[in-house]
Amino acid sequence: MGFSVGKLSTVVALATPVGEGGLAVVRISGPEAFVVANQVFSGGGFSLNPEPRRAVYGILKSVSGSSSVDSVASYVIDRALVLPFKGPASYTGEDTVEFFCHGGRMVAQAVIKACRKAGAEPAAAGEFTRRAFLNGKLSLDQAEAVADLIHAQSELGARAAVQQLLGGLNQQLSDIEEPLLDLLSALEGSLEFVSEEDVSVPLTEVEKVLLASVGRLDKLIEMSPAGRLLRDGVHVVLAGAPNVGKSSLFNALLREERAIVDGEAGTTRDVVSSRIQRGGSVFVLHDTAGLRDDAGRVEQMGIERTWRQVNEADIILSLTITGRKSVGLSVDSSAPVISVFTKHDLEPSFDVPDDAVVLSSETGEGIDKLWQAIDRAVVAFQLEEAVALGVVLNERHLYKLTQSRQELHRLYVEVKDSRPGEEIIGSLLSSILSGLGEVSGRVFTEHMLESVFRRFCVGK
Ligand code: GDP
Repeated sequence: MGFSVGKLSTVVALATPVGEGGLAVVRISGPEAFVVANQVFSGGGFSLNPEPRRAVYGILKSVSGSSSVDSVASYVIDRALVLPFKGPASYTGEDTVEFFCHGGRMVAQAVIKACRKAGAEPAAAGEFTRRAFLNGKLSLDQAEAVADLIHAQSELGARAAVQQLLGGLNQQLSDIEEPLLDLLSALEGSLEFVSEEDVSVPLTEVEKVLLASVGRLDKLIEMSPAGRLLRDGVHVVLAGAPNVGKSSLFNALLREERAIVDGEAGTTRDVVSSRIQRGGSVFVLHDTAGLRDDAGRVEQMGIERTWRQVNEADIILSLTITGRKSVGLSVDSSAPVISVFTKHDLEPSFDVPDDAVVLSSETGEGIDKLWQAIDRAVVAFQLEEAVALGVVLNERHLYKLTQSRQELHRLYVEVKDSRPGEEIIGSLLSSILSGLGEVSGRVFTEHMLESVFRRFCVGK
């Protein structure tokens, strides 16, 4: 749905999940919100000019049509509360009304139908948040944090998203943008008031500001893996030869029987994955096909998938049976590899290297030690730091930040080596700032908003 600020329609949608529940919230937003609400709700003195933020108890009723056939008396849909908000003091920044009615499909559907008969249009996915953005209630990164908060899978993921919603990332972006915007206005100012030969902003100062911004961007970009892990979970892949005990360890880690455990080599032909919440994070464990050279065709396909999984893992558990020689995985990524010696109950006296974890899935010995080793590896991902700063970078942010960083660095080198005029520096800096401004939505296009709000559900 395409629209611009100023000529927005009034929209309605269910804000709570579809299905049975104690309550459902139907939200109306737009210039006619109170007019619509007044037609479907009566009681408690609710009027066309309601007292903002005061809930009123009354009756929700259907709206009869304008034709004589349809103009039968309206029927009562539910007893409900209405909560009006006068724009701009609302989520969307517009006049907004929320109905708190009974949960379940029929009631909410009937309320929405009544609102539509009263003139409201159905809201598109993410439309309330999109309007909040267009009305300056939220920056684009804050709007994205709303989606991250709704979709959060882990405690840390939710905490990071709420910090970003409260302005964490936005502050970081301002800290980067403000010195550059100041520099730009100094450059533009000097062009306006001083003759061309006069360089009013010393180039050494320009270099200093550019370099400092590159440094700040580098720090922010470093936090991007944490964003992915907070959103998608930490992917831990169990790899090793057939029969080393991968499926047994997978089950022991999950404390449930999920993968098939079998004495015959080559049982797990595909990757089996399972999510687990631990210490505020989500881990996605992947049991894989055993890696061996003499596998049949079907098994070989599983092995190829294993390698793909290994190379995309955040943490790799490389399994060897205690007493056997560790083969070692040659991995095509920088993910930490934890050496794990399995079936220790069969070779209890065997000495293993200090940096390895020895365990037995059969007796449970060493499973805690393995989790501790995994937790130590997770520390390096800076999840806690990302939560504290409220920075949950997504691919869109990373792309723009990386691009701006490269362009700023290129400009720095050019200023240092070629000493360009202020006008050139100013125009290059202005275009870099436009790109950077897309992260917070200071600069945006309709296309950008389409792709950001596509992730949202209807009603948010
Ligand atoms: P995978 O092929 O690497 O997934 O290995 P499995 O988990 O299927 O285990 C292969 C065999 O080793 C099965 O018979 C398991 O019961 C056995 N096994 C796995 N872990 C242990 C362990 O810690 N101790 C003992 N004694 N046997 C184990």
